[in-house]
Amino acid sequence: MMYANVDGEEKVLPTPKQKGHCPLCGSQVLSKCGSVVAWHWAHQNMKDCDSWAENESEWHLGWKLGIEKKYTEVGFTDSSGERHRADISFPLIGHSDDAPVEHRLTIELQHSSIPVEEIKQREAFYKHLVWVLDARDFYISKRYSLKEGLYRFRWYYPRRTFVEAQPKRLYLDRGEGKMLYVTGLSSLSTGTYFNGGELSVEKFWEVQHKNRRVLNITPRSAIKPTVKPGENLRSHFDAMFPELAARA
Ligand SMILES: [Zn+2]
Repeated sequence: MMYANVDGEEKVLPTPKQKGHCPLCGSQVLSKCGSVVAWHWAHQNMKDCDSWAENESEWHLGWKLGIEKKYTEVGFTDSSGERHRADISFPLIGHSDDAPVEHRLTIELQHSSIPVEEIKQREAFYKHLVWVLDARDFYISKRYSLKEGLYRFRWYYPRRTFVEAQPKRLYLDRGEGKMLYVTGLSSLSTGTYFNGGELSVEKFWEVQHKNRRVLNITPRSAIKPTVKPGENLRSHFDAMFPELAARA
């Protein structure tokens, strides 16, 4: 995790050789400030109290550092005592900053692959969940098409459990300030495909802001494709993915 409570101060970033307390469970945490893994806090005597915690990368920190502290690493405990720390969590419009999880929009940043069961458990726990997958290393083939106003891309090396779990709100961070929204995933014998399109990170936040007001906003209704049927998709694709175009 990125933040700990230190000497009465809440949500402090780690610096070398520091001690603090976990904001979620209160146990002692130590700063881990090495050169390989992103600087973080780790529980001293136990595994992370959030069983869903994953090792955080610079990618996680990049997202979280752009958000006000009070909306990042927000802890929740359910009636059975289960604890989890949401990467990013905003109250829905009309609710206060300390609103319970059912009145919030939560964003989970996911770098590694996780089991289908866990995807479903997280959806159930957070109620209104948006997934952002780190997809900077995945490869999108040149098999693309435009159908009914939506792009269809083939997804190489897909996070297969997400294909199976079909979460309601799924985005892929492809890097360079660009994201892909997913309105449908399908596994065919020729590969895994998704329907959706591209949007900027700015547009992503705009959509999430609308989501805080009306939870049934889908990317599809919020975003218009930028290519019209009949336009030269090849040149558009090349413009969208210059690094792939160069390889052709
Ligand atoms: Zn803890």
